[in-house]
Amino acid sequence: MNLNEIIQTYYEYFNKEKLPYIKCANCGYVFYYPRGICPKCLSKKLSIMESKGEGEIYSETKFVNERGQVVIVGLIKLEEGFIVYANILTDRLENVSINRKVKVEFKEAIKGQKFPFFTTIS
Ligand SMILES: [Zn+2]
Repeated sequence: MNLNEIIQTYYEYFNKEKLPYIKCANCGYVFYYPRGICPKCLSKKLSIMESKGEGEIYSETKFVNERGQVVIVGLIKLEEGFIVYANILTDRLENVSINRKVKVEFKEAIKGQKFPFFTTIS
């Protein structure tokens, strides 16, 4: 699969509310960001896998946007071992902290296209 096909497959997964990731068939490395070759061993033998969508907050940053809303972004480490940079959604800011368990949730961020966000679970 070339990079455009991988990105297209990711978008299809998102609209089915599934979180994809890539596993290298040569060295076993797992990663999220779409690439045509493995960043570890440069193999092109890559497979798109489906994550359970559960993990924990690895790092997070809170800021206030121009409309006065608190926005939280962070790195999420999924159970399968890869890391995603994403928005974290919560009703309670104090719930968002390092190592907190989160799960994926999909929202239509652009008309007709869903994207993954994460919410805290207790
Ligand atoms: Zn590899």
